[in-house]
Amino acid sequence: MSRVIGPSFHIVVWFIWSALLDIKRMLILERCIGISWFCFLLYSACPVFAGQQGLRVLRIDDMITTLTPPNGWSRPMRTLFRALGFAIPCEKSVDQLSSQDVHIFKVKHAWLHSIRLATILSLLLLAVGCASRHSGNRAAAEPPPWVEASLRTAVVKLAGEIGERNLYRPKALEHSATWIEQQLRTLGYEVRRQAVAVDTNVFRCAGATAYNVEAVLVGHRHPEENIIIGAHYDTKVATAGYRDSWPPLLDRPGTPGANDNASGVAALLTIARSLAAQPCAKTLRLVFFSNEEPPFFKQPSVMGSYLYAGELKAKGVRVEAMLSLEILGCYSKRRPNKKRFWYASPAGLSHDPDYVAFVSDLPSWHQSKRWAAAYARYSPLAARTLAIPVGVSRKIGWSDDWAFWRHDLRAVCVTDTGFLRCDDYHELSDTPDRLDYAPFALVVWALEQAIRQLANE
Ligand SMILES: [Zn+2]
Repeated sequence: MSRVIGPSFHIVVWFIWSALLDIKRMLILERCIGISWFCFLLYSACPVFAGQQGLRVLRIDDMITTLTPPNGWSRPMRTLFRALGFAIPCEKSVDQLSSQDVHIFKVKHAWLHSIRLATILSLLLLAVGCASRHSGNRAAAEPPPWVEASLRTAVVKLAGEIGERNLYRPKALEHSATWIEQQLRTLGYEVRRQAVAVDTNVFRCAGATAYNVEAVLVGHRHPEENIIIGAHYDTKVATAGYRDSWPPLLDRPGTPGANDNASGVAALLTIARSLAAQPCAKTLRLVFFSNEEPPFFKQPSVMGSYLYAGELKAKGVRVEAMLSLEILGCYSKRRPNKKRFWYASPAGLSHDPDYVAFVSDLPSWHQSKRWAAAYARYSPLAARTLAIPVGVSRKIGWSDDWAFWRHDLRAVCVTDTGFLRCDDYHELSDTPDRLDYAPFALVVWALEQAIRQLANE
């Protein structure tokens, strides 16, 4: 009974939740199927889960399966358990149940269970995930033509000419770093390298040292206030699956990384070119990180941004904000979207490719909204923010922003949503021809103005 009725309730509640979050752009089918399957699986998995946890499972008849909490549980746990709809109204064993108990459960609680579970799930999502949407500005100024050309040149250079670049292809990685340095020097920046040493035996890589490349634009009014804009320039080595970080398969080519993350590098170089002409009140540190991709991702000792953030902390540099430019080039509907999580839309990241997302942990959400609001002023494309406590979902750390959170610094990742939008993520098909350069230029130009605004506030 609950298995049959449950999903329909969840669909209704999910629909209302989705509508509250995003009235205009609902992918109703995606959400309905997602939540109904989730609840169905949850109900089906209950007896198995309960068996493992030593909970008592009551099978009242073929239609209804329910659980009772063990007597040793504390009161709040029992209350939570009941609230989730897993307890029957009495704590008797099956043979002690009167026909009335069974009747009450059948008629009332199967329905209540469904409603409660769906409500609690929705509230939980609301409580742990903070999302906002900022409409774009249709009257925003068009970017000058050089912006699109500059983005295209950088993406073609890195992903088309150089290709896969990481410590498993050290020459290509060094070539990328040198090219980025040259670009910055041509713009008049002084460039500094920060070495990132790697144990080649542990990581089985050919190169032992990677470099972060930094250019600083000293603020003219508040030089002690720092805003970090970062983008990683390395790409992921080939592994068995696109999400695997180990072992590296050196006989296979890795992704050329046009969108991940030649697009971020191209964006940062383009922004650097524009900023060079007119410095801001606060200091801007433009940093091209290495070793962001697996197997170095989230490995403190070898991840470029982790060492960089650590250095800032050690030197006592005041960091007001950090923005990580990560995967920014896709703005057209792509199918089949195999890598998308079904819960991305209800969590706030809609399926439509007409926005950029500012993703962060909870402490950085305020800053995320600041970035999004500033960006949306200058862009015809909308912005969305999503903040989730790292303790709830480790997946929320998408890029170099994670390294800054670990040093208790506020950081936000701006992205086209990557694998949620496009299956080319971490694949050989992530090539320069797959990017949508016109909207990409709109986004980068708006980011440039947003950075300028925040650096002058
Ligand atoms: Zn990346």
